[in-house]
Amino acid sequence: MVSELLNPWIRDLVPYSSARSEFSGSAGVFLDANESWTGRSCRYPDPLCRELRLRIESVMGLPFDSTAIGNGSDEIIDMLIRMFCSPGHDRIMIERPTYGTYSVFASVSGVSVIDVPLTPSLDLDTQSMLSAIEKEKPKIVFICSPNNPTGRIYPLSVIRKIAEVNKGMTVVDEAYADFSEGFASAVSLIAENERVAVLRTLSKAYAAAGARIGILVSSRAVQEAFMRAKPPYNVSGPDQEAAMEALSDIEGVRSRIAETIARRKEFSAYLSGLPFVREVLPSEANFILMRVTDARSLYDYLVGKGIIVRLRSSEPLLENTIRITIGSESEMTALKEALDVLEG
Ligand SMILES: *Cc1c(COP(=O)(O)O)cnc(C)c1O
Repeated sequence: MVSELLNPWIRDLVPYSSARSEFSGSAGVFLDANESWTGRSCRYPDPLCRELRLRIESVMGLPFDSTAIGNGSDEIIDMLIRMFCSPGHDRIMIERPTYGTYSVFASVSGVSVIDVPLTPSLDLDTQSMLSAIEKEKPKIVFICSPNNPTGRIYPLSVIRKIAEVNKGMTVVDEAYADFSEGFASAVSLIAENERVAVLRTLSKAYAAAGARIGILVSSRAVQEAFMRAKPPYNVSGPDQEAAMEALSDIEGVRSRIAETIARRKEFSAYLSGLPFVREVLPSEANFILMRVTDARSLYDYLVGKGIIVRLRSSEPLLENTIRITIGSESEMTALKEALDVLEG
């Protein structure tokens, strides 16, 4: 039961009741929230992001009743840790290497992190994860699929198995799902297991990173706890509007995703032919991870040319790797021109 997993002070929390949540119908005169009576952004935004969630349902197919909006997925990750993990006592579990914020937010909350290394081929080490779960009893297991920075997706059957054995929450971060062809989302697991939650974002495929819109897809019990614990107006009015706009041109979104995938394939093939590239990892995201002979000097060389990529060498299993985001055609051409003149 989710309610038994929540921190008791969250379970028993009496939420702040904002003016906008006490009355949200239509009326002509609002004198309930001490707002100014004039100005472009003078009103508080909808704390429930209802219009946006309706559009998310119609465009992304995520049911209205199972979504809540965070100020980026980052806010949701932070909130989930604070909702479920007791400082100085509970643990989260992550695969390594993965997205960095899970362990940072855990540290901010005084929650320790157990990391389970990926296999040498960068897949989930399912057996090690299952036995670590049974031994350590983490409150939350974060799984990132497609994983950042490896670009790897994990089979749904493996995620289902982990979520069954794990008696805490299993949170699947699907920030890059849209770039994976034939992707099987863990959203389908929520109906059978209320301890599964999925994170989506408008920051990548929907081209709205500046608006800070993360989507929590989860069971009713998790939704309710999140709504109680989150700051009342966590997503600003202009950001909700920007998100509505990002979701208005769905044809544009689809063609940009297709273009990004095509460019990823083409650029991966190009990189594979370079003398100093040892390995280009297959990617299901909007970036490519490659292993080179000397990542640090390649990185410094590119910085000198005004091109910034991401050095990932310090992560376990990722010696001499660089992560490259798939950018515009002209950005990729600039990178190509810089790489073409390099010798082995
Ligand atoms: C980029 C990214 C996000 C997005 O975070 P936002 O706060 O929604 O911008 C989430 N998870 C992963 C793994 C990412 O790489």
